[in-house]
Amino acid sequence: MKLTDKVALVTGAASGIGRESALLFAQNGARVVCVDLSADLNAATATQISEAGGTAFAVAADVSDADDMERVVAETVQKFGRLDVAFNNAGIMHSDDGDAVSTEERIWDLTMGVNAKGVFLGCKYEIPAMLASGGGSIINTASFVAVMGAATPQIAYTASKGAVLALTRELAVVHARQNIRLNALCPGPLRTELLMRFLDTDEKKERRLVHVPMGRFGEAAEMAQAALWLASDESSYVTGTDFMVDGGLSAAYVTPEG
Ligand code: NAD
Repeated sequence: MKLTDKVALVTGAASGIGRESALLFAQNGARVVCVDLSADLNAATATQISEAGGTAFAVAADVSDADDMERVVAETVQKFGRLDVAFNNAGIMHSDDGDAVSTEERIWDLTMGVNAKGVFLGCKYEIPAMLASGGGSIINTASFVAVMGAATPQIAYTASKGAVLALTRELAVVHARQNIRLNALCPGPLRTELLMRFLDTDEKKERRLVHVPMGRFGEAAEMAQAALWLASDESSYVTGTDFMVDGGLSAAYVTPEG
């Protein structure tokens, strides 16, 4: 088991990547704190872990709210005594997110609030708790769109993920000698609720897949495996990376079929 004796906090644990990661972390011996805005589904993830013999508790919280994130970390330390792993993964992709001309200011603010500020606030409260625990590993979910232009316009989302990548890199450098590693997980397009809601026609789905050499959407469980490795001591010399888990998307100029 890769996370024996570790305490792991996972945001966005009610669904998709976060849910799969919370389950996988627990299977690998971690005591898991599930965090999500969606209280019922988040509690269901924690219950599933407990019923499988693992240890978890759920905290309903908005990652874009400083008081909430401070409370989440305080409750984690109060219950489990330490914090070793944080997966700042909660994120949104709004269906009204488009190009710079069409995107309303409120969509920009909402998206940046959850995706970028949410990760900042996570780090803000997790880092002191990790320092008190002797170090740790933080994984922040960015996206392939942080490093390349998206085929479908989504300017607020793209900018928010660029922010996640940049802040992760800087914090990795700042905390490198304090035994805290930070890496950005950059998923390719996944077959999750979030993306399938956004790519709501076959044409939009096909257009996205044209760019993926593997020719398929990734699975949340595949992201969880990557997050597990970054969370574990197996990745002990890895920090400040943009860890692409994208079916070859970022490596391609044209796909095998042209
Ligand atoms: P998802 O919608 O299945 O899960 C996201 C979770 O975040 C949900 O449970 C939601 O309730 C929660 N959440 C949203 N806003 C929140 C807030 N303010 N506070 C707390 N929780 C909140 O999506 P997913 O695909 O699992 O996405 C997880 C992460 O992966 C996101 O950051 C997303 O941007 C990123 N990502 C997804 C894809 C993809 O193709 N699905 C690709 C690249 C990156």
